[in-house]
Amino acid sequence: MSYLLGDKVAGEAVLIDPRGADVSVLRALMVENRLRLRWVLRTHEHDAMLLRESSALATLGAPVIERQVPRGVILFGGEQVQVLATPGHTASCLSFAWHDRVFCGGLMAADTCPYQPWPLQPEGMWDSVQRHIFSLPDETLLFSAHSRRARVVSTVQEQRMNHPWFAQASRETFLARARASASPPRALQHDEPVRLQH
Ligand SMILES: [Zn+2]
Repeated sequence: MSYLLGDKVAGEAVLIDPRGADVSVLRALMVENRLRLRWVLRTHEHDAMLLRESSALATLGAPVIERQVPRGVILFGGEQVQVLATPGHTASCLSFAWHDRVFCGGLMAADTCPYQPWPLQPEGMWDSVQRHIFSLPDETLLFSAHSRRARVVSTVQEQRMNHPWFAQASRETFLARARASASPPRALQHDEPVRLQH
């Protein structure tokens, strides 16, 4: 999913996980709303498989944030986005908190990312979810990079109660399950990486 946050008064915006295929639409949206792009924020990337993504995003002409920043905050217009280091899905995964919502990328996607349906750092994923997500108010909205049954938005309460990997799980049972599934899926073993496109 590509997410656009804008401060229309100040005329500034950030993009979160923009897909290369969406760049022209996103650019048109920003022109239409008189928004200048300040930052491209990436929760994580699979550029090794999606070979044209980084060059497509470079055409947006804004600095790309895909690692933790010094004070943990990004500013645009009168808004601020908190940058959270939430390793798990990948080693350097980030999440972005803005008002009552968190854009958590693949953090909750223990088996739903088409490019890596297993956590690269299971311990990190468990700790990141417990520390940064399940500690938030129940009504906090979570926006995922990967849809599950065509849904990308949920709440902390919903995930805490129903997540297929985290709900009613202990750290030990989660880690055992994650380790058991930590191998490349057939699609990645047999397909040419370049054929995988967003
Ligand atoms: Zn992913």
